[in-house]
Amino acid sequence: MPLVTTTEMFKKAYDGGYAVGAFNVNNMEIVQGITEACQEQHAPVVLQVSKGARAYANHTYLVKMVEAAVKECPDVPIALHLDHGPDFETCKSCIDGGFTSVMIDCSSKPFDENVEITKKVVEYAHAHGVVVEAELGTLAGVEDDVKVSAEDSSYTHPEEVEEFVTRTGCDSLAIAIGTSHGAYKFTPEQCTRNEKGILVPPPLRFDVLEEVSKRLPGFPIVLHGSSSVPQNFVDMINAHGGKMPDAIGIPEEELRKAASMSVCKINIDSDIRLAITATIREYFDEHPDHFDPRQYLKPARQAVKDMVAHKLIHVLGCNGKA
Ligand SMILES: [Zn+2]
Repeated sequence: MPLVTTTEMFKKAYDGGYAVGAFNVNNMEIVQGITEACQEQHAPVVLQVSKGARAYANHTYLVKMVEAAVKECPDVPIALHLDHGPDFETCKSCIDGGFTSVMIDCSSKPFDENVEITKKVVEYAHAHGVVVEAELGTLAGVEDDVKVSAEDSSYTHPEEVEEFVTRTGCDSLAIAIGTSHGAYKFTPEQCTRNEKGILVPPPLRFDVLEEVSKRLPGFPIVLHGSSSVPQNFVDMINAHGGKMPDAIGIPEEELRKAASMSVCKINIDSDIRLAITATIREYFDEHPDHFDPRQYLKPARQAVKDMVAHKLIHVLGCNGKA
Protein backbone atom coordinates (compact mmCIF):
# COMPACT_ATOMS: atom_id res chain seq x y z
CA MET A 1 0.00 0.00 0.00
CA PRO A 2 1.18 3.61 -0.53
CA LEU A 3 2.07 5.96 2.34
CA VAL A 4 -1.02 6.66 4.46
CA THR A 5 -2.13 9.47 6.76
CA THR A 6 -2.62 8.77 10.46
CA THR A 7 -6.41 9.26 10.38
CA GLU A 8 -7.43 5.61 10.17
CA MET A 9 -4.57 4.24 12.29
CA PHE A 10 -5.41 6.69 15.11
CA LYS A 11 -9.13 5.88 15.00
CA LYS A 12 -8.38 2.17 15.31
CA ALA A 13 -5.83 2.83 18.05
CA TYR A 14 -8.27 4.99 20.01
CA ASP A 15 -11.03 2.40 19.80
CA GLY A 16 -8.65 -0.50 20.39
CA GLY A 17 -6.89 0.90 23.48
CA TYR A 18 -3.39 0.89 22.01
CA ALA A 19 -0.98 3.44 20.52
CA VAL A 20 1.00 3.62 17.29
CA GLY A 21 4.76 4.04 17.63
CA ALA A 22 6.32 7.14 16.07
CA PHE A 23 10.01 6.52 15.56
CA ASN A 24 12.52 9.09 14.33
CA VAL A 25 14.52 8.16 11.25
CA ASN A 26 17.90 9.58 10.29
CA ASN A 27 19.63 6.92 8.15
CA MET A 28 19.04 3.68 6.27
CA GLU A 29 19.79 1.30 9.16
CA ILE A 30 17.25 3.04 11.39
CA VAL A 31 14.54 2.94 8.70
CA GLN A 32 15.25 -0.77 8.12
CA GLY A 33 15.40 -1.74 11.79
CA ILE A 34 12.05 -0.07 12.57
CA THR A 35 10.13 -1.24 9.53
CA GLU A 36 11.42 -4.82 9.59
CA ALA A 37 10.14 -5.08 13.18
CA CYS A 38 6.77 -3.62 12.12
CA GLN A 39 6.53 -5.98 9.15
CA GLU A 40 7.19 -9.01 11.37
CA GLN A 41 4.82 -7.82 14.09
CA HIS A 42 2.11 -6.60 11.68
CA ALA A 43 2.14 -3.17 13.29
CA PRO A 44 1.19 0.19 11.74
CA VAL A 45 3.90 2.81 12.18
CA VAL A 46 4.71 6.51 11.94
CA LEU A 47 8.20 7.24 10.60
CA GLN A 48 9.05 10.77 11.62
CA VAL A 49 11.65 13.20 10.43
CA SER A 50 12.80 16.22 12.40
CA LYS A 51 14.27 19.44 11.07
CA GLY A 52 17.62 18.13 12.27
CA ALA A 53 17.16 14.88 10.31
CA ARG A 54 16.44 16.84 7.14
CA ALA A 55 19.57 18.91 7.75
CA TYR A 56 21.65 15.75 8.37
CA ALA A 57 20.37 13.31 5.73
CA ASN A 58 18.65 15.58 3.17
CA HIS A 59 14.87 15.60 2.54
CA THR A 60 15.08 13.58 -0.68
CA TYR A 61 17.21 10.79 0.78
CA LEU A 62 14.83 10.42 3.73
CA VAL A 63 11.69 10.36 1.56
CA LYS A 64 13.24 7.84 -0.85
CA MET A 65 14.38 5.56 2.01
CA VAL A 66 10.86 5.64 3.47
CA GLU A 67 9.43 4.90 0.02
CA ALA A 68 11.78 1.91 -0.17
CA ALA A 69 10.46 0.70 3.20
CA VAL A 70 6.89 1.06 1.93
CA LYS A 71 7.79 -1.18 -1.00
CA GLU A 72 9.63 -3.73 1.18
CA CYS A 73 6.86 -3.87 3.81
CA PRO A 74 3.69 -4.14 1.72
CA ASP A 75 1.43 -5.15 4.62
CA VAL A 76 2.33 -2.30 6.96
CA PRO A 77 0.49 1.05 6.99
CA ILE A 78 3.29 3.65 7.14
CA ALA A 79 2.81 7.40 7.65
CA LEU A 80 5.64 9.86 6.97
CA HIS A 81 5.49 12.67 9.51
CA LEU A 82 7.38 15.92 10.15
CA ASP A 83 8.40 16.08 13.82
CA HIS A 84 8.44 19.56 15.43
CA GLY A 85 7.84 21.70 12.37
CA PRO A 86 8.99 25.11 13.60
CA ASP A 87 7.08 27.28 11.09
CA PHE A 88 4.62 27.31 8.18
CA GLU A 89 7.39 27.22 5.55
CA THR A 90 8.96 23.99 6.89
CA CYS A 91 5.52 22.32 7.06
CA LYS A 92 4.68 23.49 3.53
CA SER A 93 7.97 22.14 2.22
CA CYS A 94 7.19 18.69 3.71
CA ILE A 95 3.55 18.73 2.53
CA ASP A 96 4.73 19.60 -0.99
CA GLY A 97 7.53 17.04 -0.67
CA GLY A 98 5.49 13.88 -0.08
CA PHE A 99 4.85 13.74 3.70
CA THR A 100 1.41 12.52 4.79
CA SER A 101 1.46 14.20 8.21
CA VAL A 102 3.15 17.25 9.74
CA MET A 103 3.54 18.66 13.22
CA ILE A 104 3.49 22.41 13.71
CA ASP A 105 5.05 23.17 17.09
CA CYS A 106 4.25 26.67 18.27
CA SER A 107 3.82 25.49 21.85
CA SER A 108 6.42 28.00 23.10
CA LYS A 109 4.42 30.90 21.60
CA PRO A 110 1.42 32.65 23.22
CA PHE A 111 -1.92 30.80 22.83
CA ASP A 112 -3.40 33.06 20.12
CA GLU A 113 -0.21 32.98 18.05
CA ASN A 114 -0.08 29.18 18.37
CA VAL A 115 -3.72 29.06 17.15
CA GLU A 116 -3.04 31.41 14.24
CA ILE A 117 0.02 29.59 12.84
CA THR A 118 -1.45 26.11 13.45
CA LYS A 119 -4.67 27.11 11.64
CA LYS A 120 -2.65 28.33 8.64
CA VAL A 121 -0.78 25.01 8.46
CA VAL A 122 -4.03 23.03 8.85
CA GLU A 123 -5.68 24.90 5.96
CA TYR A 124 -2.74 24.23 3.63
CA ALA A 125 -2.29 20.63 4.79
CA HIS A 126 -5.95 19.64 4.53
CA ALA A 127 -6.14 21.14 1.02
CA HIS A 128 -3.36 18.67 0.12
CA GLY A 129 -4.72 15.58 1.94
CA VAL A 130 -2.20 15.85 4.78
CA VAL A 131 -3.00 15.72 8.52
CA VAL A 132 -1.65 18.00 11.25
CA GLU A 133 -0.43 17.44 14.82
CA ALA A 134 -0.23 20.52 17.04
CA GLU A 135 1.02 21.04 20.59
CA LEU A 136 -0.26 22.71 23.75
CA GLY A 137 1.92 22.83 26.85
CA THR A 138 5.70 22.67 26.84
CA LEU A 139 7.93 19.63 27.43
CA ALA A 140 11.27 19.99 29.15
CA GLY A 141 14.42 18.52 27.63
CA VAL A 142 16.52 18.65 24.46
CA GLU A 143 15.59 17.36 20.99
CA ASP A 144 17.62 18.61 18.05
CA ASP A 145 16.87 22.34 17.92
CA VAL A 146 14.17 22.20 20.61
CA LYS A 147 15.63 22.99 24.03
CA VAL A 148 13.47 23.77 27.05
CA SER A 149 14.64 24.03 30.66
CA ALA A 150 12.59 22.41 33.44
CA GLU A 151 11.68 25.89 34.72
CA ASP A 152 10.29 26.93 31.32
CA SER A 153 8.28 23.73 30.82
CA SER A 154 4.59 23.62 31.70
CA TYR A 155 1.81 21.04 31.78
CA THR A 156 -1.01 21.41 29.27
CA HIS A 157 -3.99 23.37 30.66
CA PRO A 158 -7.00 21.13 29.96
CA GLU A 159 -9.36 24.13 29.91
CA GLU A 160 -7.62 25.36 26.74
CA VAL A 161 -7.81 22.24 24.59
CA GLU A 162 -11.39 22.48 23.22
CA GLU A 163 -10.95 26.06 22.07
CA PHE A 164 -7.56 25.23 20.54
CA VAL A 165 -8.80 22.20 18.59
CA THR A 166 -11.99 23.94 17.45
CA ARG A 167 -10.20 27.10 16.29
CA THR A 168 -7.28 25.34 14.55
CA GLY A 169 -8.95 22.23 13.11
CA CYS A 170 -5.84 20.16 13.97
CA ASP A 171 -6.13 16.36 13.68
CA SER A 172 -4.19 15.33 16.80
CA LEU A 173 -2.76 17.12 19.80
CA ALA A 174 0.54 16.68 21.64
CA ILE A 175 0.20 17.48 25.32
CA ALA A 176 2.62 17.89 28.22
CA ILE A 177 1.92 15.57 31.16
CA GLY A 178 5.46 15.08 32.45
CA THR A 179 7.31 13.37 29.60
CA SER A 180 10.51 15.04 28.43
CA HIS A 181 12.87 15.00 25.45
CA GLY A 182 16.30 13.34 25.50
CA ALA A 183 18.17 10.72 27.54
CA TYR A 184 18.29 12.87 30.69
CA LYS A 185 14.61 13.45 31.23
CA PHE A 186 14.85 14.38 34.88
CA THR A 187 17.52 15.73 37.21
CA PRO A 188 18.44 13.53 40.20
CA GLU A 189 16.79 16.18 42.41
CA GLN A 190 13.43 15.55 40.71
CA CYS A 191 13.68 11.79 41.33
CA THR A 192 13.96 9.21 44.07
CA ARG A 193 16.40 6.25 43.90
CA ASN A 194 15.44 2.59 44.09
CA GLU A 195 17.35 -0.08 46.04
CA LYS A 196 19.80 -0.48 43.12
CA GLY A 197 20.58 3.22 43.11
CA ILE A 198 18.72 3.75 39.83
CA LEU A 199 16.75 6.99 39.54
CA VAL A 200 12.95 6.69 39.64
CA PRO A 201 11.24 9.61 37.88
CA PRO A 202 8.16 11.50 39.09
CA PRO A 203 4.93 9.87 37.76
CA LEU A 204 3.14 11.19 34.67
CA ARG A 205 0.13 13.44 35.30
CA PHE A 206 -2.62 11.05 34.30
CA ASP A 207 -5.14 13.45 35.86
CA VAL A 208 -4.26 16.01 33.16
CA LEU A 209 -4.59 13.36 30.43
CA GLU A 210 -7.98 12.28 31.79
CA GLU A 211 -9.26 15.84 31.94
CA VAL A 212 -8.08 16.49 28.35
CA SER A 213 -9.76 13.27 27.13
CA LYS A 214 -13.01 14.20 28.86
CA ARG A 215 -13.06 17.51 27.01
CA LEU A 216 -12.06 15.97 23.65
CA PRO A 217 -13.88 12.62 23.42
CA GLY A 218 -12.57 10.45 20.58
CA PHE A 219 -9.74 12.86 19.77
CA PRO A 220 -6.23 11.40 19.36
CA ILE A 221 -3.61 12.57 21.85
CA VAL A 222 0.15 12.40 21.26
CA LEU A 223 2.98 11.92 23.76
CA HIS A 224 6.43 13.27 22.88
CA GLY A 225 9.63 12.52 24.78
CA SER A 226 8.55 8.96 25.56
CA SER A 227 11.75 6.94 25.41
CA SER A 228 12.28 4.65 28.38
CA VAL A 229 16.09 4.93 28.29
CA PRO A 230 16.58 1.17 28.90
CA GLN A 231 19.20 0.69 31.61
CA ASN A 232 20.79 -2.26 29.76
CA PHE A 233 21.82 0.14 26.96
CA VAL A 234 23.04 2.76 29.42
CA ASP A 235 25.06 0.07 31.24
CA MET A 236 26.55 -1.19 27.93
CA ILE A 237 27.54 2.35 26.97
CA ASN A 238 29.13 3.01 30.37
CA ALA A 239 30.89 -0.39 30.36
CA HIS A 240 32.50 0.27 26.99
CA GLY A 241 34.07 3.69 27.32
CA GLY A 242 30.93 5.82 27.37
CA LYS A 243 29.86 8.25 30.04
CA MET A 244 26.12 8.62 30.60
CA PRO A 245 25.58 8.71 34.35
CA ASP A 246 21.98 9.04 35.54
CA ALA A 247 20.44 8.82 32.06
CA ILE A 248 16.75 8.25 32.72
CA GLY A 249 13.46 7.84 30.83
CA ILE A 250 9.75 7.18 31.25
CA PRO A 251 8.84 3.79 32.78
CA GLU A 252 7.28 1.48 30.21
CA GLU A 253 4.27 0.65 32.44
CA GLU A 254 3.27 4.32 32.45
CA LEU A 255 3.46 4.50 28.65
CA ARG A 256 1.39 1.31 28.38
CA LYS A 257 -1.25 2.88 30.59
CA ALA A 258 -1.28 6.06 28.45
CA ALA A 259 -1.59 3.92 25.30
CA SER A 260 -4.68 2.24 26.73
CA MET A 261 -6.26 5.66 27.23
CA SER A 262 -6.65 8.43 24.58
CA VAL A 263 -2.96 8.48 23.60
CA CYS A 264 -2.76 7.20 20.00
CA LYS A 265 0.85 8.13 19.10
CA ILE A 266 3.91 7.71 21.29
CA ASN A 267 7.20 9.26 20.11
CA ILE A 268 10.42 7.30 20.60
CA ASP A 269 13.81 8.61 19.48
CA SER A 270 16.41 8.45 22.26
CA ASP A 271 15.97 4.69 22.70
CA ILE A 272 16.98 4.18 19.05
CA ARG A 273 20.09 6.31 19.56
CA LEU A 274 20.96 4.38 22.72
CA ALA A 275 20.47 0.96 21.07
CA ILE A 276 22.83 1.91 18.23
CA THR A 277 25.48 3.56 20.38
CA ALA A 278 25.51 0.76 22.98
CA THR A 279 25.82 -1.93 20.31
CA ILE A 280 28.59 -0.16 18.39
CA ARG A 281 30.57 0.69 21.55
CA GLU A 282 30.46 -2.94 22.63
CA TYR A 283 31.37 -4.12 19.14
CA PHE A 284 34.39 -1.81 18.93
CA ASP A 285 35.57 -2.96 22.34
CA GLU A 286 35.29 -6.63 21.35
CA HIS A 287 36.66 -6.26 17.79
CA PRO A 288 39.34 -3.57 17.86
CA ASP A 289 40.73 -4.73 14.50
CA HIS A 290 37.45 -4.45 12.52
CA PHE A 291 36.97 -1.44 10.28
CA ASP A 292 34.17 -2.33 7.82
CA PRO A 293 31.10 -0.20 8.76
CA ARG A 294 28.86 -3.10 7.73
CA GLN A 295 30.36 -5.19 10.51
CA TYR A 296 29.18 -2.89 13.29
CA LEU A 297 26.13 -1.34 11.61
CA LYS A 298 24.57 -4.77 11.10
CA PRO A 299 24.28 -5.61 14.83
CA ALA A 300 23.31 -1.97 15.48
CA ARG A 301 20.42 -2.30 13.01
CA GLN A 302 19.43 -5.59 14.66
CA ALA A 303 19.43 -3.89 18.07
CA VAL A 304 17.05 -1.22 16.74
CA LYS A 305 14.80 -3.95 15.33
CA ASP A 306 14.74 -5.92 18.61
CA MET A 307 14.11 -2.80 20.68
CA VAL A 308 11.27 -1.67 18.39
CA ALA A 309 9.66 -5.15 18.43
CA HIS A 310 9.72 -5.01 22.25
CA LYS A 311 7.98 -1.60 22.20
CA LEU A 312 5.33 -2.73 19.72
CA ILE A 313 4.38 -5.75 21.83
CA HIS A 314 4.95 -4.65 25.42
CA VAL A 315 4.54 -0.86 25.43
CA LEU A 316 2.37 0.26 22.50
CA GLY A 317 0.20 -2.84 22.10
CA CYS A 318 -0.02 -2.26 18.31
CA ASN A 319 1.37 -5.64 17.21
CA GLY A 320 -1.10 -7.52 15.01
CA LYS A 321 -3.04 -4.31 14.27
CA ALA A 322 -1.76 -3.66 10.74
ZN1 LIG B 1 9.07 15.89 20.47
